[in-house]
Amino acid sequence: MLDLVLRNCRLPERAEPVDLAIADGRIVAVGPAAGTAREALDVDGRLVTPGLVEAHIHLDKALLTDRVSGSAGTAAEAIRLTGQAKRGFTAADIAARARRVLDMAVPAGTTSMRAHVEVDPIVGLTGMEAMLALKREYAPALDIQLCAFAQEGILQTPGTETLLRRALEMGADLVGGCPYNDTDAVRHIEIVFALAREFGVDADFHVDFFDEPEHLHVREIVRQTERLGWQTRVAVGHLTELAALPLAEQAALTADLARAGIGVISLPLTDLYLMGRGDERNVRRGLTPIRRLLEAGVPVALASNNIQNPFTPTGTADPAHLTFVGAVAAHMGTPELMRELVAAITTYPARILNLRDYGCAAGCRADLVVWECERPEEIVTSLPARRLVVKTGRVSVEHERRIVERWRSGNAREARRG
Ligand SMILES: [Zn+2]
Repeated sequence: MLDLVLRNCRLPERAEPVDLAIADGRIVAVGPAAGTAREALDVDGRLVTPGLVEAHIHLDKALLTDRVSGSAGTAAEAIRLTGQAKRGFTAADIAARARRVLDMAVPAGTTSMRAHVEVDPIVGLTGMEAMLALKREYAPALDIQLCAFAQEGILQTPGTETLLRRALEMGADLVGGCPYNDTDAVRHIEIVFALAREFGVDADFHVDFFDEPEHLHVREIVRQTERLGWQTRVAVGHLTELAALPLAEQAALTADLARAGIGVISLPLTDLYLMGRGDERNVRRGLTPIRRLLEAGVPVALASNNIQNPFTPTGTADPAHLTFVGAVAAHMGTPELMRELVAAITTYPARILNLRDYGCAAGCRADLVVWECERPEEIVTSLPARRLVVKTGRVSVEHERRIVERWRSGNAREARRG
């Protein structure tokens, strides 16, 4: 007995629609589905992709625009303004804002997510406690990895290392650093790697988030990744400085990242907003070189980062919106490149987050999205609605939108649209 059959699914790599048979939370067959199922849904040739993967988001400091005064012009200013707001955070306040973001992410089709949770003497472990409860609450709809994150530095903020260790003991899934916001970047990176080794977890860094290549801490991260044997277990976010290097140096560093198995997470809404602030003419985009990284074999994810706070004034927690921005901001407009952008919210972040059994093949976990379109590139071009979201073999979200176009005639015609 199957739990669910989705009939007439159009998979990205196949010309003809297929049926997906699902049992015990997994896809058990791809093709004409035989056998009876508790629930059978005909998706009528719509595109089906694996669930969306949000590789980098800050739920604990999301939705602050109603309480933070002033507009950040730089990353340092955004850290300062958010640090002030953080002094007023309570567990209930963090949970309420995080829940609002999660309630945007789940209907968008996000089935896995990595959330950075700030752990420092300002907020202590309050964010981690709130997020551990939300991780359990939302488990039927999405898997959340919690990264114990040292936004305020480690060495310049005594007590942080102990708090990071405590967060990992409480159940954080990995550890994250921010070497550009500390007094000794190399030592900061060493501490993060030492914690990763002590707890046997992945590491994720906010790194090189400036217009000019003045830090390049990623080189130290490459060195320590290889020394520790942590290949495929390390991710870096932002990496905007890479784009400012001469091409030969970009190629060398990109090859180092590929060899070290380090994934890169581009955060286009934040990077486009905060980079280039010193440019008076021809303001630069300030994105990491997504195409060059992909061409070198580095997995690249597009992620939301911040939702409506001093780092990023906008944000919907819908990964598809990042592909829409990415196509124009990173010059990725051909069907082939737009499919790469879809991979940057699906298969690449799944690799970076080390998600097991991810995909639409038999044996994979049945985390799926049914879109109101037929081809993957339409996700990028026109942000189609999501018809269904499936999490671990169960339909978690069903969308229906009704539009009445009264203007068309006296006998109001209805149009049902996705
Ligand atoms: Zn971030």
